[in-house]
Amino acid sequence: MAKWLGSILVGLVITVGAARADWYYDDAAIMGTNIEVQVWADTERAGQAAIDAVFAEMERVNQQMSPYIESSELSRLNASAATAPVVVSAELFALLRYAQQMSETSNGAFDITFASVGFHYDYRAQKRPSDEVIASQLAAVNYRHLELNTEQHSVFYAHPDVRIDLGGIAKGHAVDKAIEKLKRLGVEHAMVTAGGDTRLLGDRLGRPWLVGIRDPRKADRQAVKLPLSNTAISTSGDYERYFEEDGQRYHHILSPATGKSASMVQSVSVIGPSSTTNDALSTSVFVLGLEAGMALINSLPTVEAIILDNQRRMHFSAGLTDQ
Ligand code: ADP
Ligand code: MG
Repeated sequence: MAKWLGSILVGLVITVGAARADWYYDDAAIMGTNIEVQVWADTERAGQAAIDAVFAEMERVNQQMSPYIESSELSRLNASAATAPVVVSAELFALLRYAQQMSETSNGAFDITFASVGFHYDYRAQKRPSDEVIASQLAAVNYRHLELNTEQHSVFYAHPDVRIDLGGIAKGHAVDKAIEKLKRLGVEHAMVTAGGDTRLLGDRLGRPWLVGIRDPRKADRQAVKLPLSNTAISTSGDYERYFEEDGQRYHHILSPATGKSASMVQSVSVIGPSSTTNDALSTSVFVLGLEAGMALINSLPTVEAIILDNQRRMHFSAGLTDQ
């Protein structure tokens, strides 16, 4: 009798415990964008703790790398690295080194010194620099002006007008850092999105996640939905921050060669294991355009891409079309 009752009790406890495992979701405005987190957790408390850890990590990276926060490491660099070398954290130093590597890989299409011209644009205020200003600042746009001293972890700008901005890579970096945090907390199924950068941990309990790529010209429509697990995807589009003037679209992805918005395609999505890499590559391919961009993706072993060109045609990299 007692044994029988005991097994019922054990059964109840297990049922109650299992019923609390669930998906937990929240979003927040950090890094100038919408952060969304979904995690599978055993309890609401664990779910909330995991989500909070993601938000805290995003905010930490924001405080370090935002150009809008005066005390950020990035702002300190822009304020004085053209005068004397500035020592930065190991994390920022490594990201700057990686950004420089991506500049080499993309033949200069990805270049964080684009900001030397880029900071003259204000998309919200519909402000853009004159051709004269662009011409006078363009010499400062060159990733080779960044002198990275590995022993000192210091950065020097070898041109007086250099400014850098990590808008093309920092969100991907923050997503990777957030996923690392989740793994350390024992989370096995999660999705973390920061604007156009998404990384997936595991799957949706036996099914893939479905990640949509936005229609670049219709905000509420998706051009395609991709089933993905345990990977990441970043999208760069000309619709995130832009204004139009005389039928011309001025948007936030600049060609380092011209200092003007790149206009060969409408959107680029890059799929691969690292959000940092995807983020930098989606921006790079956007600048390179369809042919050179696709050639770059097809030359790299771990990434695939979907490009929407100016005629709204969709193009897939070799690994997505080969059987
Ligand atoms: P978002 O998710 O903000 O749309 P993207 O990955 O598309 O991000 O990158 C756009 C951002 O990258 C711009 O807002 C700017 O900060 C930065 N950027 C623009 N042009 C370049 C470039 N040629 N190289 C590196 N970064 C760039
Ligand atoms: Mg990017």
